[in-house]
Amino acid sequence: TKPNKWLTAQELHAHLNTSFSMSFLEELVSQTQDEHGISVNDLHLTESQPLDQGFAIFSKLHKIFRTEESIYLLTRSVIKEFAEDNVKYLELRSTPKEIPETGLTRDVYMQTMVRAVHDCEKEGLDITVRLLVSIDRRHGVEIAKIAVDLAERWMKSTKGLVLGIDFSGDPKVGDATDFIPVFLDAAERGLKLALHLEEIPLHEETKNVLRACCGHCTIRIGHGTYLHRYEPNEGHEEIEDLVVKWKIPVEACVTSNLLSKTVDRPGTHHFWYWRSKQHPVILCTDGKGVFGCLLSDEYSKVAKEFSLGREYLVNYALSTFDTIFECDEVKQRLKDNLKQFSEKEQ
Ligand code: 5GP
Repeated sequence: TKPNKWLTAQELHAHLNTSFSMSFLEELVSQTQDEHGISVNDLHLTESQPLDQGFAIFSKLHKIFRTEESIYLLTRSVIKEFAEDNVKYLELRSTPKEIPETGLTRDVYMQTMVRAVHDCEKEGLDITVRLLVSIDRRHGVEIAKIAVDLAERWMKSTKGLVLGIDFSGDPKVGDATDFIPVFLDAAERGLKLALHLEEIPLHEETKNVLRACCGHCTIRIGHGTYLHRYEPNEGHEEIEDLVVKWKIPVEACVTSNLLSKTVDRPGTHHFWYWRSKQHPVILCTDGKGVFGCLLSDEYSKVAKEFSLGREYLVNYALSTFDTIFECDEVKQRLKDNLKQFSEKEQ
């Protein structure tokens, strides 16, 4: 894929461990292959597979990115590759790991990501990076509380470089309802929330979370694939009503959803459903390594599918800056940059 040279944009839904660059991974795997018996070809999806297959790949990746050094190099290379694709603002999310054999602790994990972001700044990369601390729902509520403490501490010590939490992990495991007190507590402490909801049909937990959190938390929804896909008269209309009423942005990961078979073809992707309602929906990559897509590919894909011209896409991209977790000043700076860039490129 050729890096994008015609549009600046932002990436709001990118998981660190799944966003590796291929060249970086090849080098790392060639060094560790004997140890893990994993080859690069095992680590990305080239054709549609059930969602479970993605999660099997994520586990393999966690066997590779286990040391402070590998997390540092991964973070730097991911940021660099987004910058090369003309991404000007990136909210990168990751689950801090505790790996006694390699000396990795959650704090060291955070410190390492923050160090990599600062080093990219020093290098002069033209991209603003912010971090979200991921909660893996498989790990349960107690670990989620630790993640919130960690996120708050790092938000304070980095003066806002860390600005929120992500809630992700295998949606077939656990119930998001159990995490509601954690979400409310995080919001109370000033953290923003990016929550994977309705990646698969889970209307009850989504309804519970939205009922409890709307009005109290700043939220974006990750995937939201089934938010609007419910049977009539089963009482799930309320979900869509809450999303619309509170203007909750939806992070739409087109290639990821197609390869994970939660959406059958580009034309039926919910990007267009929400766009047609003039509801905020943001194109994102999810894991550009595992799903083999750049952000510019996502723009090209919807442009082709829905016959969108350049002007439409520039106006669309401008509107999505309102959904970032940063302050109004940063939003305005990004919008001004994009306007200048698009006028120059015309
Ligand atoms: P990490 O947090 O280790 O940097 O990134 C990988 C992790 O992000 C996975 O283990 C999983 O918890 C989460 N993740 C990545 N992609 C997806 C996705 O498409 N759906 C969900 N629910 N979680 C994901």
